[in-house]
Amino acid sequence: MASLYLHIPFCEHKCIYCDFYSIAPKDSPNEHHALVERFLRALKSEIVHRAGEERFHVSYETVFFGGGTPSLLSPSNIADVLNLLSRSFTIDPGAEITLETNPGTVDIQKLRDFRAAGVNRLSMGIQSFHDDDLKFLSRIHSSDQAKHCVRNAYEAGFENVSFDLIFALPSQTPARWRSNLEQAVALHPTHISCYSLIVEPNTPLFRMVESKQVSTLNADDDAALYEMTMEVLTRHGFEQYEVSNFAQPGFRSRHNGNYWNHSNYLGFGPSAHSFWSDDQELRNAKRWWNISNVVGYSERLERGTLPLAGDEALGCSQLIDEAIMLGLRSDGIDVAGFRKRYASDFLADHRDRIAELERDSLAVLEGERLRLTPKGYLLCDEICLSFR
Ligand code: SF4
Repeated sequence: MASLYLHIPFCEHKCIYCDFYSIAPKDSPNEHHALVERFLRALKSEIVHRAGEERFHVSYETVFFGGGTPSLLSPSNIADVLNLLSRSFTIDPGAEITLETNPGTVDIQKLRDFRAAGVNRLSMGIQSFHDDDLKFLSRIHSSDQAKHCVRNAYEAGFENVSFDLIFALPSQTPARWRSNLEQAVALHPTHISCYSLIVEPNTPLFRMVESKQVSTLNADDDAALYEMTMEVLTRHGFEQYEVSNFAQPGFRSRHNGNYWNHSNYLGFGPSAHSFWSDDQELRNAKRWWNISNVVGYSERLERGTLPLAGDEALGCSQLIDEAIMLGLRSDGIDVAGFRKRYASDFLADHRDRIAELERDSLAVLEGERLRLTPKGYLLCDEICLSFR
């Protein structure tokens, strides 16, 4: 099964911590509108171009509109793109179709129209239920707006709603983060992603930290909040199926799952990445990515060329390293499947390291699957590196 990703590179305003490629309107509303229209024409032409390649004629089980803020587009824009995708590729009738949604950009009618356009899953960028956190993060919505948006989403017919939350904000107390988790759970999402605030280079937040205007949470406090996250969410029936992702049974993100198990995916739009191999054994695996510039992206497609920024062929050892890292970060490594797919005996190659992890209660071997424990997830990055 394969996936389609569409990167919509527009935001109403750029958040201080964000390093995803997106732009906020700088020009007059008319000029910005013209740029959005130009981008949409280019996006459609990229889809048509890729659909002309025989090898991409497979069945797609997920479509994900990410960004940026795809919910800034109109429902008819989303419907147009989905219709084109359906005409160009085979979309599975039960496909998971996700729209990243900023609570400050939608009302109930717009949500109903997104649902009617075919979107069946919302990924809401809520981040916090505290207005001063939202102000610090320079989000455009308030806590009340977020809660209202969730209720509207249910009212509009969405049965699969995921929340994104951010923890480890400067001086965030455990009580405050617990209250965020509890308010999230009380709204009954099917899925919650919790990310620790990362200070990315070239962001306003980075400059604030550099100039000591803001100090980040120390590693121990960050770890304590993460432990609390695992404890609270699993107690409320969420399964942790990746280091940052929690789902009610039956609601794991199929799209992210495909990224994590080396399934094929095609990405469209500026900065979008794609991964493709010929078969289950990952022959001729290749990754490529688009330029991160919406004007350049549109110009290239207007000239009839693909907007590629780079590509790489993935050899056996790189695929194995990635599979170990992706498996440990998510649902574990299925040893038999690993042997078949990567022609490599994971257990034999790492016997001592695995024994050490088991002895320290950082991982467990359940039948044929090695997975990290909650204690292991806390040290996930170091553990992944230790397999290199
Ligand atoms: S809304 Fe999302 S994509 Fe846009 S700037 Fe904020 S964090 Fe980045």
